[in-house]
Amino acid sequence: RAKRAGGNRVEPFQPAFRSFGTDRLQLETDLRRAVERKELSLVYQPIVRLEDAEVAGFEALMRWEHPKRGNIPPSEFIPIAEASDIIGPLGMFALEQATNDLMAWQRQTGDLPLFVSINLSSVQLLNNELYDDVRALLAKTHCEPNRIKLELTESQVMENPEQARLVLGKLREAGIGLALDDFGTGYSSLSYLTRFPFDTIKLDKAMVRDESDKKAVLLRSVISMARELNMRVVAEGIESEEDALELAKMGCAYGQSFIFGPPMGTDSVLRLLKERFPLTKRA
Ligand code: C2E
Ligand code: MG
Ligand code: MG
Ligand code: MG
Repeated sequence: RAKRAGGNRVEPFQPAFRSFGTDRLQLETDLRRAVERKELSLVYQPIVRLEDAEVAGFEALMRWEHPKRGNIPPSEFIPIAEASDIIGPLGMFALEQATNDLMAWQRQTGDLPLFVSINLSSVQLLNNELYDDVRALLAKTHCEPNRIKLELTESQVMENPEQARLVLGKLREAGIGLALDDFGTGYSSLSYLTRFPFDTIKLDKAMVRDESDKKAVLLRSVISMARELNMRVVAEGIESEEDALELAKMGCAYGQSFIFGPPMGTDSVLRLLKERFPLTKRA
């Protein structure tokens, strides 16, 4: 991957791509500095139990406040990071920050049994240090492994299935949660994916929102298959309470959507937790 991107960078002779290339190169330079300049941060979106809308955990989502361009979405800067060596420090920042934030919430809410879910890049998955890095981080922060979930998409896993199986196996063995992200956008072969130790499957909003008649049939069968495989199901981007109810009836236990709560800063997370769990003792 890095090679391919490196190749792109030495192709400034194609006029049509020129401005795109320069812009990207500039962003890459800026992104390289963004970690140390504290322009990157994480926001957290609640993942709720559909039966009672109770908060079960949060997904960490990265934000970049560019000094000149303002907020740049992850869909724009993550690919730039992945195509260069920036993904290393950027990925480590997300793991460390999210774990530290979770531990701070734990301390301040009397140890609510929350988890935090962190998106991984395939570059991190294919890097031999991921397992040791995560284990060291958990030891350092005294975080229990089952409080952390790592999210990967099907296509990320399929980039190198053998290596993925090895690394994911070790992470799972250590008790770390593994979520299959954006399910319904790729090949979406659950049977194939049973070869990987995912404990959670996240249904992509495209699948949750599909308007076709077959939607209910498809959702119902994916959910029941996932349940038989002992996987938790999280539906992303649910649009209405009705849909949430219907999904719950189908056996989908969790939801993550703007209707339950947007991605928010750590202060808002704490406020929300104290509001939702008022009887919890506070440090
Ligand atoms: P994702 O992992 O599938 O994250 C869910 C995305 O859906 C988030 O977009 C979230 O804000 C959005 N979302 C949640 N609820 C709703 C809803 O009800 N309606 C709609 N329309 N959208 C909803 P976001 O934050 O822009 O992130 C986009 C993608 O960027 C993520 O998709 C993930 O693949 C990637 N990403 C974000 N943070 C990181 C990170 O720290 N590391 C890596 N490697 N990737 C990241
Ligand atoms: Mg995700
Ligand atoms: Mg993702
Ligand atoms: Mg997703």
